[in-house]
Amino acid sequence: MSGIYIHIPFCKRKCHYCNFYALASLKYRDEFVPALIQEIELRKEYLTDRKINTIYFGGGTPSMLSTKEVNSILNKIKESFEVNPEAEITLEANPDDLSPDYLKKLKNETPVNRLSIGIQSFFDDDLTYLNRVHNGANAKKAIENAKREGFNNMTIDLIYGIPTLTNEKWEKNLETFFSFEIPHLSSYALTIEPKTALQVLIDLKKIKNTSEDETVSHFEILLEKTRQHGFVHYEISNFALPGFYSKHNSTYWLGGHYLGVGPSAHSYNGLSRQWNVKNMKQYIESKSVENIVLEKELLTEEQRYNEYVMTSLRTSWGCDIEHIRNGFGEKFVRHFMKEIQKPIQAGKMIVNENVFKLTDYGKLFADGIASDLFL
Ligand code: SF4
Repeated sequence: MSGIYIHIPFCKRKCHYCNFYALASLKYRDEFVPALIQEIELRKEYLTDRKINTIYFGGGTPSMLSTKEVNSILNKIKESFEVNPEAEITLEANPDDLSPDYLKKLKNETPVNRLSIGIQSFFDDDLTYLNRVHNGANAKKAIENAKREGFNNMTIDLIYGIPTLTNEKWEKNLETFFSFEIPHLSSYALTIEPKTALQVLIDLKKIKNTSEDETVSHFEILLEKTRQHGFVHYEISNFALPGFYSKHNSTYWLGGHYLGVGPSAHSYNGLSRQWNVKNMKQYIESKSVENIVLEKELLTEEQRYNEYVMTSLRTSWGCDIEHIRNGFGEKFVRHFMKEIQKPIQAGKMIVNENVFKLTDYGKLFADGIASDLFL
């Protein structure tokens, strides 16, 4: 079973922390969906397993598509692949797009069955710091509207580590989330990515920088509160009630295959990783796969091992030494076993029946621990 990711690169305005390929301009709006449909046709042979279990509209802001456009993309996918009738079909949405009318059409006229709403915070000052389009009231209204229309399989994003976000406000954000009885949460620490507006504004001292201590404290609150409410911390930034894990994102984390369409989208079929061009004009004008796919990389054994370590360590399934032995051989096992001793002694990792997992303390150092295990 494979997944399909569709990148919709339009946004009403650019959030200050954003480093995704997203355009705050509708210049190519009309040509975009036909180009996307053409790409699905051109690249349908990429996946070795053409049975599709998950489809994910990400961005950018996919809720800027009309339901007619959502259906024309899905119809092309159904024509080109064997889509499981029970497939998880997720659409990312910004709160200001989720009017009762749009949600009604999405629910009744499209097969979208999972909504991912970019809330980030329920407080206006945090949203202003991030330069989001919506405010706290819009955020709550969007969730209420979605629930009223029957979207029960829902997730929201919340960001912590924002300088305007105190511990008390962060707890309040989480309490608001729990009060809506939403079964999934994606929660990320604010990171200052190079070349973003946030980095420029911080460098110019126009806004406050993030604080590592506050971010750590928010992360600890997040772990405690989600656990109290019965959520499983199944990936470093993802929490779900049993039965509501994101099937699409789990495909990425468990090494599954996926085709990514749209500018900047990534694809993986077990043998190669491919990156689409990050240029809308070039994307629209592409008439061949070669013009769409800017880079291809055949993965070496070391790269595949590093990816396995990196992704598995971030999940609750952990890193299985037998998987390393069977997939990569004894050389990799020896290296892993030598390097893993230090984080175990430091209380950052635990091992149970050959499966190595991060402790809560170790989760604070996930990327560093993984890179020390790389070959
Ligand atoms: S809505 Fe998402 S993709 Fe668009 S600018 Fe904001 S963070 Fe970036």
